[in-house]
Order: sequence, then C-alpha cells, then structure tokens
Amino acid sequence: MRMTATHAPGVPVVEDGHLVSSNPATGEQIGRFPASGESDVADAVRRARQAAAWWAALGFAGRRERLLRWRAALANRLEELAELMHREGGKPVAEAIVEAAGAIDHIAWAAKHARSVLGPRRVRSSLMQIEYASRLEYLPYGVVGVIGPWNYPVLTPIGSIGYALAAGNAVVFKPSEYTPAIGAWLVDRFVEVVPEQPVLQAVFGTGDVGAALCRSGVNKLAFTGSTATGKKVMAACAETLTPVLAECGGKDAMIVDADADLDGAVAAAVWGGMTNAGQTCVGIERVYVADAVYDAFLGRLVERAARLTVGIEDGADFGPITMPGQIDTIRRHIADALERGGRAALGGPDAVQPPYVRPTILVDVPEDAAAVREETFGPTLTVTRVADADEGVRLANASRYGLGGAVFSRSRGVALARQLRSGMTAVNSAISFAGMPGLPFGGVGDSGFGRIHGADGLREFARPKAITKRRMRSLLPALSFDRTPKQVAQIARAVRLLHGRPR
Ligand code: NDP
Repeated sequence: MRMTATHAPGVPVVEDGHLVSSNPATGEQIGRFPASGESDVADAVRRARQAAAWWAALGFAGRRERLLRWRAALANRLEELAELMHREGGKPVAEAIVEAAGAIDHIAWAAKHARSVLGPRRVRSSLMQIEYASRLEYLPYGVVGVIGPWNYPVLTPIGSIGYALAAGNAVVFKPSEYTPAIGAWLVDRFVEVVPEQPVLQAVFGTGDVGAALCRSGVNKLAFTGSTATGKKVMAACAETLTPVLAECGGKDAMIVDADADLDGAVAAAVWGGMTNAGQTCVGIERVYVADAVYDAFLGRLVERAARLTVGIEDGADFGPITMPGQIDTIRRHIADALERGGRAALGGPDAVQPPYVRPTILVDVPEDAAAVREETFGPTLTVTRVADADEGVRLANASRYGLGGAVFSRSRGVALARQLRSGMTAVNSAISFAGMPGLPFGGVGDSGFGRIHGADGLREFARPKAITKRRMRSLLPALSFDRTPKQVAQIARAVRLLHGRPR
C-alpha cells in the first residue's frame, strides 16, 4: 500500500483520508472512497446489528422478495457493472459479464432456497426418548463480516454476501483495496432496493480495515483471499472466538487421460489457465498428461495459447496483471522453472511485459519447482508427462493446496475426479462448478475450509438450533431423579432390545 499521489497504475493509494483506485493498465483514476478507521468499522457493525434484527424479522419470504429485486437490479445493469469491472480490475468486458452472470444466478438460488434449506422442520425422535418431539431450524448469526479479493470482485464476495443475506444476516463488506468502486457499486444497488435499514454496508481501506473487521465483534467472518492473509484473519478472530470461513488460494491441476477428448482438453486448459490473466483461485496452473497423448496435446495447446490476444482494448482475451506486485512472483516462477531444467514451449521470461504477462507454457519442470508448488496467479501452465492418469492424480495431490481441479477422460472421469484431493472437480471442462449454484464451493488443506454456494453455503451462515418438546408423559423417565430402580432396569432391557443385535 503506497501513501503518495504519484503511483504506478493500479496501485491503490490513500490520499487525504480517501482510498483511491486506478486502472492497472492506464492509471486512470476509477474510485475515491473515505478510508475507514477502526471506529468507522465499529460504527458500521453497530448499525448492522440493528439492521440484522429487522432483516431477520422479515422472514424468508420478505428477504426472498428483496434479494430477487437486488438480483434484477444487477441483471438490468449488467453491462454497466461489467464496464466498471473492466476499468477498475482490467479484465475484458466479456469475462466480466460471465463473472457477474454467475453471481446474479447465485443470489437468485440463495433467495429461492433459503427457506427449504434453513427453515424449521420436524426431526424423528429416538425410540428411547419417544415422548419428546424434535425440531430443527437454522438461525442467522447476526452480523457477518465479508472480506473479499480483487480477482473476482463480484462473484467471490457475492458467494458469501448473497448466501449470508439469504440466511437472515446483515453484512459489513470490506472489498479489496484494488476494487473498492466495484464493491461500492454492488452495495449501492442493494441500498436502492432495501433503503429501510443498512443491511449491507461497505467499509473501505487497506488490510488494516479488514483486521479491524475481524476484531469488531461480528458474529462470523467470511474471508476470501490468500492463504497467508487467511492465517492472520484466523488468528485475529481467535481472540474473540469468532467463527471463520476461509476461502484461500489454490494450485489446481488438470489430468488428461489417454482416452480424453484432446480438443476439449486443450480448450479447457487454455481458458482455465489463462482466463483473467491466470488470476483465478480455481484457475488451472498444472496439467498432467498421459504419455500416450502428451505430444499431441502439447502441440495443440501451444498452438491455441499462442493465438490469445492480450491487452486493455476491446476484444482482448485477457488483460493486465491487476496487482503490480504479482508480476515479480510470476517472473520468479518462470525463471526458477527454467533454471531447474524446464523449458518454455511458449512465452518465457520475455512474456513478462508489465503490466501484461503473455501466455507461457512450461514443460519438463521438476515437481519441487516454485511453478509447480506455489500459486503463480499468472497466465502460465506447467505441462508434465505422466505414465497414466493415476500417476497424474498422485502428483496433483502432492500439493498443500486442494481447491478445485479438472479431469479429461472418456471412461473414468468421475472416478478420477473422486480421487483428487480437492473441494471441487470439473470433468471434461474447467471451473464449471463455480457457477453451479446448487453445488458447494470451497477447499481443503491450505485452500481453506467452510463452503459458499449451495445448501452448504446457506448453512455456513446460519447456526443450527435444536428444540425438543415433551409431548407425553415418560413411560421410562430417564431424565429425572424420580426414576425407580425398576425403571432403570427396564431402560437397560430396552437398550438391549434396540441395540443388542450386531446387525
Ligand atoms: P489478500 O490475501 O492479499 O487479500 C484478501 C483480502 O484481505 C483483501 O480485502 C485484503 O485487503 C484483506 N486483508 C489484507 N490483510 C488483512 C488482514 N491482516 N486482516 C484482514 N484482512 C486483510 O488476497 P488478494 O486480494 O491478493 O486475492 C488473491 C488471493 O485470493 C489468491 O490467493 C486467490 O487464490 C485467493 N482467492 C481465493 C478464492 C476462493 O474462493 N478460495 C477466490 C478468489 C481468490 P487489501 O486488498 O485492502 O489489502
């Protein structure tokens, strides 16, 4: 974070108490927002607590109606949103539309399914306690803090915000310092359709503001960002035992089996690896290809990736690296791969032309190289020859991350997908799970824990409330000092009757 008025394109600054964002390619100023201090965050959370009571009292039907209005407001101004995403984050308008479309679909799904997933239901009672009726419902936490990244500044925060709101919580949202205007735009559209109470608010600033949100007394904190920051967030939240949802980094792999549709695999590897200039948490960074099809796959992959266009102008396939500091990481990974005996089948060190990085495909890179082990977050792929898909799975799983991944196979797609140690896997496609509202999204290992999206995503933002209600006199009063020795003997007999048989 720089504190000066003269700064590199895309590097956010704080000027006169305002956070200022700019276009990563042109430096054009995009947004200017009052930077929050710790007391501003506390005030926002205090206001949110009152709003949360109002929002919860609306019930599922009232929230559904308002959330569907919000999703309509976003859908009807989709192009305006996409243009802002293009200007502030640098991604092409087409990619911005695809991202925002997914987010809108998620809001609709969460709004429409909240009651069936979280609403009150009866639960069968145990025969041992048949005199009690059982009920379960999922209640909102109250105020949820959401900290978002810049790379998918709409889809990613809405994956938490939409589901948290549908579950009945108020939300205080801290967008990334790189994309505050997009965060503000989303909140403004919500305020237009829900003007009564500050159910969704944004606070602006650098990582310090995120840290203040962790300590502000929110009832849950949903974090999306790097693994390193995720650990800091968890440590801060531990002080107040605030529960955390951690959606962190990844190093996703694609497995190409010997019987794969190679054209499909090439198209998915190029898009999955290079969409948004590779700045995708579930982007493909490693490809493991069965020996039998390796040469054919690599030839077609290089040919296709070489045709990608890079730039800020309309129609480019991908744009600049949004966070200038990331360019050093990408450069280091390429140099390390080549020093360790790897070869650039496309691109290489010369592909790094700030603020752009052109498509780079690295082969023969050892498995302990940074380009295979660490998150690169650039338009680079390592392509590795393996004996068969099973060896590919073994190498793919030797990562501390476990977010998404992909498998191309005609005969064993789902079986191989199951074996990948990750939260999501796409078969014969890439990243297709992210826009599927009914499916949970989240990782294992260093990719974090907890889930957004789907029924699990709704439950993530609600606490189960269990209720038992006596409905008749107890024949065997186990839960009372009034039980007699004879009744205790009857309880023991009942246990043997119910559970004494091995099957
Ligand atoms: P960062 O971890 O740098 O930042 C994430 C958010 O945390 C930002 O809003 C940041 O604010 C804030 N923050 C920074 N320091 C702190 C702190 N000490 N306490 C609380 N909040 C803090 O990640 P990036 O924004 O660079 O995003 C890229 C990363 O996000 C990649 O690793 C990517 O894989 C991951 N990601 C994961 C996804 C998933 O669903 N699993 C989806 C998308 C991205 P500020 O920007 O102002 O510094």
